[in-house]
Amino acid sequence: MPTESTFLLAGLFLLLAAAGWAMGRFGEREEEDPPPPLNIDYLRGLNFLLNEQTDQALEHFLKMVRVDDKTIETHFALGSLFRRRGEVDRAIRIHQNIIARPDLAAEQRDQALFSLAKDYLKAGLLDRAEKMFVRLSQGSRHQVEALENLCSIYEQEKEWQKAIESGQQLEVLGGRSLGLQIAHYYCELAETAALAKDYGSARRYVKNAQTGRPRTLRGALTRAHIARETGDSKTALRLYHRIIDEHTYLIAEALPEIVAIYTREDQLDELDKALKSMLQKNPQMNTLVAYSAIVNNIGGIPIIDECVEKYMLDEPTLKEFVDVQRLADGDVSAMAKTRSALSKIATATPRYQCQECGFSSQRLLWQCPSCRSWETQRPASRVQFDTLLQHSIT
Ligand SMILES: [Zn+2]
Repeated sequence: MPTESTFLLAGLFLLLAAAGWAMGRFGEREEEDPPPPLNIDYLRGLNFLLNEQTDQALEHFLKMVRVDDKTIETHFALGSLFRRRGEVDRAIRIHQNIIARPDLAAEQRDQALFSLAKDYLKAGLLDRAEKMFVRLSQGSRHQVEALENLCSIYEQEKEWQKAIESGQQLEVLGGRSLGLQIAHYYCELAETAALAKDYGSARRYVKNAQTGRPRTLRGALTRAHIARETGDSKTALRLYHRIIDEHTYLIAEALPEIVAIYTREDQLDELDKALKSMLQKNPQMNTLVAYSAIVNNIGGIPIIDECVEKYMLDEPTLKEFVDVQRLADGDVSAMAKTRSALSKIATATPRYQCQECGFSSQRLLWQCPSCRSWETQRPASRVQFDTLLQHSIT
């Protein structure tokens, strides 16, 4: 069956014929080279198309129609069309053909290089794309776009130092702040260093992250985590409590860490007091504490258990499945079973959702894999029954 590319090329051949080029006038022939009465290349090209040999037809088109000032836009348009349709090999062939022309103007060469770099990117050939974008970022009218693409490539390759450098260049050239994005690059470096127990480097990276504006919440969490890992419980707790005070939703990340520190310090009574005081000031946090406790299987701490019980009694969907009266009567076995079931549901359903595009995931992702935005995910505040109910209906 003929593909869309076949029709596309057939259309181009017919257009050329209609323009009179098929009579031997396409390309710039030498004056002493008289045009043939009917161009045999044109017929060959059409023959390939009729036999659905699209690649051969394309090669033929490229041989027939030399890249010059009159035809270059057609070549670019064709390359772009192939790329958009996902036929990257063909797009690459077209753009390489443009670059091969020796007397190409600098601007056209840059445009061809930029198009080829985008082809490589689409084909997943990141190293080749990177080389071209680096070249373009050093001086071309595609400098800004090249740097944007380099940031994206370095993010995928987890080359954070290079991402920082490209981001900083982009800030200067593009005239806009990328403070949050660059802060996250530093946090990536800090987390890697902390994982390798190189806490000195980790602290330096966090410090760099914290100088950016707007500040990333991740920097504060990483700083608290480093303090915890290095045994500085006092600093870690101070930082975690501050994080929760300023951004209540981050209790989903902070609660397990806080509980671990109070347990290590054998100060669970202090935790009970601290959480009670927080809930008095901010009663709506009950749900967040309960949800975080359910997801992370945190129990045995009176105030947290109280939050979970209250949550179970107030959860409207739960009334459809369990005898809530038994829970209200304090039936320990019913409580434990319900809590265990909720925990299973919570860990099997999405916990975080991007506020920009709706992408959801099980763990917190600082950069949304779908829309590439930074710090746009927020945790759910309740166990998500929707997905479960949809599964049971279908
Ligand atoms: Zn998103």
